Amino acid sequence: MKNIEYFKPTTIDQALRVKQEMGREACYIAGGTDVLVLAREKKLDCRALISLRRIPELAGISLQDDVLHLGPATTLTDILENGEVARELPILHDAVQVMGSTQMRNMATVGGNVMTAASSGDTLGPLLCLDAVCRLVSPGGERRVPMDEMFVGPRTTAAEPDELLAGLEIPLPAAGGAISSGAFFKLTRRAAMDLALINVAVQLWVNPDRATIAKARLAAGVAAPTPVRLKQTEEELVGAPVAEATKEQVAIRAIGRECRLRDSDRCSAWYREEMLRVLIPRAAALALERMGIAV
Ligand SMILES: Cc1cc2nc3c(=O)[nH]c(=O)nc-3n(C[C@H](O)[C@H](O)[C@H](O)COP(=O)(O)OP(=O)(O)OC[C@H]3O[C@@H](n4cnc5c(N)ncnc54)[C@H](O)[C@@H]3O)c2cc1C
Repeated sequence: MKNIEYFKPTTIDQALRVKQEMGREACYIAGGTDVLVLAREKKLDCRALISLRRIPELAGISLQDDVLHLGPATTLTDILENGEVARELPILHDAVQVMGSTQMRNMATVGGNVMTAASSGDTLGPLLCLDAVCRLVSPGGERRVPMDEMFVGPRTTAAEPDELLAGLEIPLPAAGGAISSGAFFKLTRRAAMDLALINVAVQLWVNPDRATIAKARLAAGVAAPTPVRLKQTEEELVGAPVAEATKEQVAIRAIGRECRLRDSDRCSAWYREEMLRVLIPRAAALALERMGIAV
């Protein structure tokens, strides 16, 4: 590894100032589980790192007015151990539970997962399905970007180089008495410490009749160059009987129209398609089961 300068700001303003002074020569580092791998592989294009670990306002989970505020520097372990996430956002809890190892979850952060923007990023499908919003701050001020507009290309986000991810806002799906739940599944080659061959997130809202779908969110990872929402399918499910979301035929149509599966050295496009056909209905069925609806 080359010599890299290391900054330890304790406020967001200090972090932004260092970044402004050094420009592209400095990168943010949170848990370092992506950054340090790049550094070791000599693929890190920075001569300085700005640590986000000592900025208290970037970490933590709080609930205000039916919106869960998730600090980007919150570790995956803290998310996993949070009762509100487990109760209100099982789709995100499912995902964090199957990420890396205990040691890795103690270091890795949700903000790092978002900003790395890998198609395989396990929190990204859940955050897309939950209609999360990113708060991006820069010396020029703050803007809010819906998660759905964050992933603009392979490993590329809509954030400008001078912007820092300062917060994630997640409206509670069951706010106001809505009936909603979600589920996440990930397929890997081995049981632990592996990136997804494919992952699937489904969040469903059902009407008070508990028989028809009011709103649907479906997302898949490693199914395209970025994590993707299956928007056409989401629209078609509105008003449909709940069982429709669990039909393989619906998954097959979604994959054909809305995914861009490819072969890689990890597995073939054919295998990814076969597994998506199974995992999309399975995630929908588990979401319904969590609402007490049997199909
Ligand atoms: C052994 C191992 C297993 C892994 N398993 C999984 C897995 O199962 N699933 C999965 O999805 N990923 C996995 N990963 C990848 C990685 O751990 C995750 O992407 C993790 O969430 C990254 O978080 P971090 O805090 O370590 O990010 P860092 O490495 O600190 O940062 C990652 C990127 O985000 C930027 N960044 C971080 N925070 C901010 C911010 N607030 N504002 C702006 N930019 C920011 C950094 O500049 C950098 O570009 C694994 C990695 C390893 C090494």
